[in-house]
Amino acid sequence: MPTLVEAVSLLAAVVATATGLLVARRRRSSPLALPLAVMMFGGSLWATARALLHVAAGSVPATVTLHYLVLPGVAAVAGATFWYLAVLSGRRLSRRTGALLLVHPTLLVVALVLDPVHEWFLRLRVEGTDVTVGAGPLYWVHTAYCYALVVAGIVLALGAMVRAVPGHRRVFAVAALAATIPTVGNVLTTLVAARSENLHLTPMFLLVSAAIWWWVERFGGHSAVVPVTTRQVLEVLDDAVIVLDPRGRVLDANPAARALVPATDASGLDDGPDAAWRAYLDGDATVRDRGTLTTASGTVLDVRVTPMTDPVGRAAGTVVVLRDVTELERLRAELVDQATRDGLTGLHNRRALAQRLADAVDEATRDGRPLSMVLVDVDHFKAVNDSYGHAVGDAVLVAVGRELAEATQDGETAARLGGEEFVLLLPGVTAREAARRADDVRARCARLRVPAGRDEVRLTLSAGVATLAPGGTADDMLRAADHAMYAAKHAGRDQVVGAAEASAS
Ligand code: GH3
Ligand code: MG
Ligand code: MG
Repeated sequence: MPTLVEAVSLLAAVVATATGLLVARRRRSSPLALPLAVMMFGGSLWATARALLHVAAGSVPATVTLHYLVLPGVAAVAGATFWYLAVLSGRRLSRRTGALLLVHPTLLVVALVLDPVHEWFLRLRVEGTDVTVGAGPLYWVHTAYCYALVVAGIVLALGAMVRAVPGHRRVFAVAALAATIPTVGNVLTTLVAARSENLHLTPMFLLVSAAIWWWVERFGGHSAVVPVTTRQVLEVLDDAVIVLDPRGRVLDANPAARALVPATDASGLDDGPDAAWRAYLDGDATVRDRGTLTTASGTVLDVRVTPMTDPVGRAAGTVVVLRDVTELERLRAELVDQATRDGLTGLHNRRALAQRLADAVDEATRDGRPLSMVLVDVDHFKAVNDSYGHAVGDAVLVAVGRELAEATQDGETAARLGGEEFVLLLPGVTAREAARRADDVRARCARLRVPAGRDEVRLTLSAGVATLAPGGTADDMLRAADHAMYAAKHAGRDQVVGAAEASAS
């Protein structure tokens, strides 16, 4: 049915022309637009010539001209397909490749002009108004070259597909498929249909691929600009990214890096003052590393060092990522502090005391130095709460806490065990000296006056003192101090009792 085929060819020509015009308008914003437009115009020429052959039947010059016009159309489609797939695969066509691609159409035009004389391309037999077309040797060279171009383009696209990130692979697969469709149609036409009925189906296949190409160019072609996108990500990233060569010279630095470390200049090597991160790297920049450093101005930097190797495993350079974590570090320190401090008095809490006590026992045992502990309990504290309320009770605890904190020296610990019980941990202090210090605290607290409305609250403490016995444990000490403190309560409160006296009584 030549009429249906020709109607479809004409439709294909119209669609291809329209697509070409539409796409060409975007040639500035998309590197795929121009090759696609050329492809569409070539396809349009091809399809139009095919469609009009039926109409032109009867006129020998028109028929012959149309047969010849198909060939540049085919050349444009093949060349543009290669161009398109090369650009899609992320290749920049060099001037030389561009010139080489133009050799074929140029030779084609020259050969076609001379063809009526030499019949290199088409062998035309004219009987009356009937024109029969046979293929000359150059026709086959031209056809083989066109196939080779398309296959080369498909190979580029498949290669790019293998290298692409998973999210981009589909685009290359679709592009390779779109390039295959008209080629397969052309092979079928050349091998089967054209021999019998002069039935040329390729323009119909072109119509299908035109739609696919349009979609790829419009929605899927972003892969062609991936290198630009990676650059853009680095440009907008808050993290400072610095790329060093294997000798530690700066190859590249993003704007965040230049802002954070002004001496980092991609062109000048070490011309600025040595930045803190350089000192950090002086260790060994070839080892994957992560840590923090504090600059002279007090900025805390999180540093990540990632060495890069080439495919054979040789050092290719290092990526250094710096992040300003000053605020984060401040918060972390605050959280650590909160986890070890008592919320009411600001003294160390029970957990922190346990850790310090364990360390102090280890140290004292190792160094053979004395270690003493004072356990303090506020007398009749329940009565304060009952008479003046919980808030005044809290104020009493805060006041006692302040006295204990003031009583400690370097290396000593004041902690709140819980409720109204406190501990003084005194490394290097003998039992005697500890008892004297405890009595000092007791006397100072006895002089405290904590305001409670119009009244003032007075308070007294009972304290037990214990010293680490040779081979003794932290628990032994705590138990002995507790025992001594209860002895002080029994003896009438407001006094200090040593563990030795307590066990003697
Ligand atoms: P003693 O002289 O025998 O030590 O008598 P006490 O009343 O001090 O002893 P007791 O252990 O019976 O009372 C401790 C009270 O401390 C009971 C509890 O309500 C109160 N308490 C515990 N923690 C807090 C706190 O954080 N704030 C206040 N205001 N009171 C607390
Ligand atoms: Mg008490
Ligand atoms: Mg108590």
